[in-house]
Formats: sequence, structure tokens, C-alpha cells
Amino acid sequence: MVETSTIAQQAADLRREINYHNYRYYALDDPVISDAEYDRLMQELRRLEEAQPELVTADSPTQRVGAAPASGFSQIQHNIPLLSLANAFSLEALQAWHRRVTTLLNTQEVPLTCELKIDGLAISLVYENGVLAWGATRGDGIVGEDVTQNLRTVRSVPLTLQGDPPPYLEVRGEIYMPIASFRKLNEERLERGEPAFVNPRNSAAGSLRQLDPRITASRNLQIWIYTLGEVRGYTPPQSHYESLEWLQSLGFRVNPNNWQCRTVSQAHEYYLKWQELRHTLPYQMDGVVIKVDSIQAQEDLGVAGREPRWAIAFKYPPEQAVTRLLDIGINVGRTGSLNPYAILEPVVVGGATVKQATLHNEEDIERKGLRIGDWVTIERAGEVIPHIVGPVMARRTGQERPFVVPERCPVCDTPVVKPEDEVMRRCPNTSCPAQFAELLKHFVSKGAMDVDGLGEKWCETFIAQGLVKDVADLYYIQKEQLLQLDRMGDKLASKIMASIAASKERPLCRLIFALGIFHVGSEIADLLAGRFNSLDELANASPEQLTEIPGIGPKIADSVAAYFQVPHNRQVMQRLRDAKVQMEQEYRQASSAELPWQGLTFVITGALSTMPRREAEDRIKAKGGAVTSSVTRKTSYLVAGESPGSKLDAAVRLNTPVLDETKFLEMLIAGKPPS
Ligand code: NAD
Repeated sequence: MVETSTIAQQAADLRREINYHNYRYYALDDPVISDAEYDRLMQELRRLEEAQPELVTADSPTQRVGAAPASGFSQIQHNIPLLSLANAFSLEALQAWHRRVTTLLNTQEVPLTCELKIDGLAISLVYENGVLAWGATRGDGIVGEDVTQNLRTVRSVPLTLQGDPPPYLEVRGEIYMPIASFRKLNEERLERGEPAFVNPRNSAAGSLRQLDPRITASRNLQIWIYTLGEVRGYTPPQSHYESLEWLQSLGFRVNPNNWQCRTVSQAHEYYLKWQELRHTLPYQMDGVVIKVDSIQAQEDLGVAGREPRWAIAFKYPPEQAVTRLLDIGINVGRTGSLNPYAILEPVVVGGATVKQATLHNEEDIERKGLRIGDWVTIERAGEVIPHIVGPVMARRTGQERPFVVPERCPVCDTPVVKPEDEVMRRCPNTSCPAQFAELLKHFVSKGAMDVDGLGEKWCETFIAQGLVKDVADLYYIQKEQLLQLDRMGDKLASKIMASIAASKERPLCRLIFALGIFHVGSEIADLLAGRFNSLDELANASPEQLTEIPGIGPKIADSVAAYFQVPHNRQVMQRLRDAKVQMEQEYRQASSAELPWQGLTFVITGALSTMPRREAEDRIKAKGGAVTSSVTRKTSYLVAGESPGSKLDAAVRLNTPVLDETKFLEMLIAGKPPS
């Protein structure tokens, strides 16, 4: 008896809690917990109600959909209730649903229609004699809100139908906001200091349920129609799929990705296919809906509570979650930039446990109004690195504290600087240990000095063991020192020593790139190397001389000049020279006859079959040519390998001569300027 009353109490508590979340979600369009958390509460309530069916009350959220219509709208009664859908989160659950269907229908042959589950809000539209009479939200399934005036502003809702519509026709579909419009809307809201919408679904609902239709009109809502409602004076097709085709012929917007199939494994294939493809769509979907295709069979199967037995939503793992922002940490990047990141209470999202999220920069934190201790919505949609959508304002307690931007580098304690036109703060100390680890990894990487065998882990070990404090130290390492390191055998030590020695011969452009000068990527390094005979010449160039080089602006020029003004960097240069690292431009000393491509600019696209792209670049440069990454009017030739990208289109548009690989090789061998 005691136990029963405890369970009854638990069920009552859960009902109250779920009803509160329904209100926030459906009435305010402003949820405070994630869908996954909500689904867990519902599952728990279902479990209790199944164990003790006498606990099921008529107002239980397991029996009713959505929430009562908001005041401010007039109400519309749905003749046929608008239902929710049962959910499946695994193949087993889908198979169980299918087994139930085949058992109840007493046949294995059940044609199915598969559809995308569009993440928006359900609405019903009624047409009388082909003219839109009214449109309503789902509301609590029985009574919805009259949003006719707002729906009239949605361009893809037809105001009059084509063809030969019946005297009375009700259709149902999903109103949604395309992802691009959602992002734009949120940018504008943040600009105005308003809180961001959590996701396109909430913003679609918030935009449709406006008392002023002009606001709805400004929000670029769209619709997909996915089912037929009540029809009078006409017998529609008896297959769901065909009825959608019929609706399309009347001028409704029906999703082109609907698909017919016959087995549950085919439906599963559809699910998997769209799991891969979903992020290529311009709108958000959160699963697929599998429906029994025959209308007769749908009627035979009927409804259980608030869900039809003839359909199931097969959902993808949630891509959003709500968790606590425990702290904001700072990473110091290779160039000294102070990159804030969120330290989160671990939470599962997009199928993985997330503990950290990017925060881009301090402006981002400010724009989103984040405070340490906030509950935040995080998202991991397609991309690997999760990001924070925004704080859940309704869960603020007042204990949260604002993020204080550090005045000193958290690693070396040097006062940080913030260049005026930049969003990031930077630690200006290039010997800062945090920067140095990244710098060393960059220095030895493939595109830079290419020290084969010296991976990231070894770089860290070298630093930890005090073998290197700056990049020049690398060239003073003795093999005996390497042999003292854990897990370093004779063979590997010899290999690393040989790679270090070989790296001394890299062309000047690679050395300039390898130094990790702020703003100097590989392309800029090429431009600089194309102009100066040696690293010394570059080091002594004034910012004015540097800006004379096409492609070098004042920001880069200042950064290069500033780098060589730092005494420590000059010392590194001297020690590199003493270690015989090549600092002169080999081909600059060649006569102009040996530099036949001087003044020519090349762009490479696609894969070359005879050499890696880097080698092609080096060979062009060895002949005096320059290599850049995008085709402009100044490009002399585009070298197009296998599967060329959009650069080929650009070259065609700009009339830039295109060399295929054979022609390119011929010219390399001939050595004379391509004619
Ligand atoms: P649902 O969204 O899981 O599924 C039913 C709905 O799917 C239909 O009403 C319809 O609008 C939509 N749909 C999209 N494409 C469709 C298609 N092709 N065919 C048929 N229907 C299609 O169910 P629901 O009852 O609308 O809402 C439950 C969902 O809302 C759950 O995911 C739940 O987590 C979430 N929710 C969250 C909170 C919260 O506080 N976070 C509160 C309430 C509900």
C-alpha cells in the first residue's frame, strides 16, 4: 500500500514536471531542458503507468499532445485530432513496431512510406472550394490556435489550389525555418541584445505564433505537407504515398525525398542514408517517419493514446543537450592567441560524451551573454567540435559569474596584447612554453621543415626533457641524448638525426613559413621568398619595403618586421645559420636563363599522378615561378590534375590558360616559358 502511494506520488510529480516543460516548449517556445531529458521523463512516467494502469489520468501527458492553445489567439477545433508519433531509437524498436503491425494486420506484406521527420511544428490547413479558409496549430491535439493570418504570409502555403480540388479539404504539414534563415535571425537577435533561439524548430514555432502577422512575414517560414486530413465530397487515393502525389498536383509543397518500400530493412536503409545526408539539407530534420501506406490498414490499426499505431518516428541521436558551463579555460595557440574554451559537465550529445566546447573568442562569449555556472544548450550537428548555442536564461540563479578576460598569459605570465583590429588577445612572448610546443610541431611538420619521424609526441618529449627550448636547438641535438629517452631505439634515433640533417636543405620559403611568424602562412612565405635572396635580407627589410611586394599588406609587413626586431628571434636565426641550415635562395643565385618562369604565377588544382602537389610547387618555384591558392586575373596558368575543383571554373571564367598534367610536365622538362 505504502509502495503504491509512493509510486502514485512519483507519477504525480512527473506529470507536474512534464506539464511544466510542455508549457515552456509548446506555449512559450522556450524550453529549459533538452529533448533527451524530456524524453527520459516521459519514458519514466510511461514505465510507472504501464506498471500500474490505474495511475493513468485523463490529463496525463502520456494521453495528450502539446499544450492548450495560448490566449490571444482564437481557438479552432480539429475534427480529426492531430496526434503525436510513437518513437523508436533503435533498429530493435523499429522491428518490434513492424512485428506488431504485421501481427495486427495479419499479413507480412505491408507496403510502407518513408518520410523525413521535419523539425518544425505541426499545423492543419483547411481549404473550402480550393481557397484557404483557415489554418491552425496542433495545440493540444483537439483544439488549436487560429493562425490563419500568419500562415497567409508563408509563401509556400497556397492561398488557392490548382486543378480540381474537392469542396472541403484538410491537409497537415510541418512549418519550419530553413537553417540559413534561423542563423541570420539569431545573429540579428544577438546584435539587438535579445536571447538567441535554441534551434530552428523553436524559432519556427515562435515566429508562427505571433499576434502580429508582420513579424511572421519577416521570418521566412516554409512548409512541407505530409498528410491528408478530412476530405468531403471526394474520395482521395487509398494509398498514403499516392495521396501525397495528389496533394502535390493541387499545388501543395510535398517533400521530394519521400520513398516507398516493402520491408523493415529497407526502411532502415532509408534511415541510415538520411543520417549521412541530413546535414546537406537546408532545413533541420531529426529522424524519419515510417508509415503504413494503405489508408484502409491505417484505419484498421487505429490509435493508441496520443499516437497512431500505423506510424513511427525513427529518431537520430539528439544533437543538442543542456548542461552546466563549469568554467572557461584558455588555450594558448601557436601564434600566441588566447583561445577561450568551455569546460562542461560531461553530457552525451550526437552520440558522444562532450566535456568541452569551442568559444571562438571573448566577443563570442559576450555576444551570447554566457556566465560561468550557466546552464547552456550545446550542439554537435555534423561537425566534430561541439559549440554553445546560448545560456538557458530561465535557469539562472544569480550565482553565475561573468568571465574575466585574462590580462596575463596563463602559461608564461607575460602581459597579453590585443591588436586594435583583432578579436583575439595574444601572448607576445614567442618563447612562451605554450606557444613553443605548437611552434615546434609546426616547424617540423610536412609543409614546413618536414622532419620525418619527429611526430607531435616526440616534440612534446623533447621539450619536457629540456632538449629544445627554441627551434634552433633541434640542430644541436646529439644522438646520445636521444638514446636516453624512453622508447627511443637506435634505429629511430638514427632516423630522426638523419631527418633533422636533411631538413637543413629545405628551400628558403619553407624556412620562412616554419618560423611561425604571425600572419605568415605558406603562401605569404612564398611571396617573401620570391622577393629576397636570403633570410638576412628579409630580416633587414623595413615594413615599407615589404609592402611593396604585391600581396603583402601593412598588417603582414608589421608582423614580419616586429618578429625580426625581437632579440631572441635574431639569436635563433644566428644559431640556425651556425648549424648550417640553408638560408639563401638557391635559385636566386642562378642566372635569369635558369629562372625561365620568373614573373609567372601558377595555381594548382586536383591531384597530379606523377608527383605530390608540394613537389610540383617546389619545381615551379625552382624555375622562378610563384604558386598561389586562388585563380585571379593575375594568375598566369592553372595546372589542372585529376578531379579539379572550382578553380577550374574560375580559370575558364577569367580566360586563364589551363595546363593539364602532361603539358605541365613537358614544360617542366623543356624548361622554357610555357607558350
Ligand atoms: P514528435 O515531434 O516526436 O513527433 C510528432 C510530430 O512530428 C508531428 O506532430 C509532426 O509535427 C512532426 N512531423 C515531422 N515530419 C513529419 C512527417 N513526415 N509525418 C508526420 N509527422 C511529422 O512529437 P511531439 O509530440 O510533437 O513532440 C515531442 C517532441 O518534442 C519530443 O522530441 C520531445 O523531446 C520534444 N519536447 C521537448 C520538450 C522540452 O522541454 N525540451 C518539451 C516538450 C516536447
